[in-house]
Amino acid sequence: MKETSSLFEMVRSRFDAAADVLRLPRDLREVMTHMKRQLIVSLPVRMDDGSIRVFDGYRVQHNIARGPAKGGIRYHPNVTLDQMKALASLMTWKCAATNIPYGGGKGGVVCDPATMSQAELERLTRRYASEILLMIGPDRDIAAPDVNTDSQTMAWIMDTYSMTVGHSMLGVVTGKPVALGGSRGREEATARGCWYAIREACKVKNIHVKDARVAIQGFGSVGTTTAWLLHEDGAKIIALSDSGGGVVNLKGLDLEAALAHKQMTGRLSGLPGADAISNEELLELKCDILVPAAIESQITAENASRVRTSIVAEAANAAVTPGADEALSRKDCFVVPDILCNAGGVIVSYFEWVQDLQGLFWSEAEVNNQLEKIMIRSFKEIYEVAQKRKLAMRLAAYVQAVGRVSDATNVRGLFP
Ligand code: NAD
Repeated sequence: MKETSSLFEMVRSRFDAAADVLRLPRDLREVMTHMKRQLIVSLPVRMDDGSIRVFDGYRVQHNIARGPAKGGIRYHPNVTLDQMKALASLMTWKCAATNIPYGGGKGGVVCDPATMSQAELERLTRRYASEILLMIGPDRDIAAPDVNTDSQTMAWIMDTYSMTVGHSMLGVVTGKPVALGGSRGREEATARGCWYAIREACKVKNIHVKDARVAIQGFGSVGTTTAWLLHEDGAKIIALSDSGGGVVNLKGLDLEAALAHKQMTGRLSGLPGADAISNEELLELKCDILVPAAIESQITAENASRVRTSIVAEAANAAVTPGADEALSRKDCFVVPDILCNAGGVIVSYFEWVQDLQGLFWSEAEVNNQLEKIMIRSFKEIYEVAQKRKLAMRLAAYVQAVGRVSDATNVRGLFP
């Protein structure tokens, strides 16, 4: 059977598997799989040449049983409503798996930011914020950066929201600049969370991090920081890659040189002291820890049998397909699933929101300390479910998440 490439179907099949384990009744499954709210907006924007272009935008709330919706805003030509729905539901399960009191949301605009000026992006963002204003708010739906949006985008949204309601409202978005109520430690939170999860996984697999050989696909924000943190633990980073291909040295890469080379040339390939390797080959290298930190659907039913690692730390959303999950599980490969592995970002977003609402800001050490506590607690809870019910970590994470949302839904009851 051919694997689905639809993210929506992937997330749905994982929900179904968890619902089966929990023996959820059909009615409850119906409620939990439907989107709570979906908004489609058209955004007329004055371009720099004086013309007007109309962009399509979306904001989706999947589930708000456990708290306000939380989820990023993506600017990309391939944004679709289905993609927003899939990503919103992934956020519901991620927040529930780590017991963050949020539901799941996602938003996006169909556009190509690379072809737009900063002024055009600002006008687009402010119009989008104003169109989705009826859905967002610190107690309703809190947005954050995603692909092609950043702290500046969040500052514009916060300002547009604040101008409309008549007072400054920091908690409507997270991932803001620190000067505007952003949290210390937010930028590296996803990688740091991934690193905490890897350390726990190493304990389960009896691997000493300091002796581990690590391969990382994706040398962006998450991949780079994860590499550094593991390197500081003494691990040997044997392979790295970006969209232009990868580099390998089985004795260990010089990470500082790799960063400098990437900064100077814009790519990893050609790094002195390393051999070239393709992104596909990197995934099949013999190593202890493999971190897919680039894009989705990288380890599939097709290549999973050739993966030779003890631990897969799924930093990128949906990097491992359901077909690959089965194959990896048969090989006794320990997968730290995306909804746990990359939850550090949303956890520190939650801290940012808490700090904004309280008007009391934490030191970076405090943020990291609280993040570590939540990551380790979540890992242990999910591992315990996995052990008790004899499940792989992915299914255990979904069982934990779906169970929490179904408990909240049940106890709230059906209105009216
Ligand atoms: P990024 O854009 O900073 O880096 C992505 C890296 O992947 C780049 O090095 C890029 O060259 C590489 N890449 C792109 N296409 C590739 C391909 N086809 N093959 C191999 N490499 C490729 O992104 P990021 O913020 O580091 O995020 C990485 C992943 O983690 C994404 O899947 C993202 O959704 C997920 N994630 C990120 C965060 C966060 O806080 N940044 C939070 C949760 C999940």
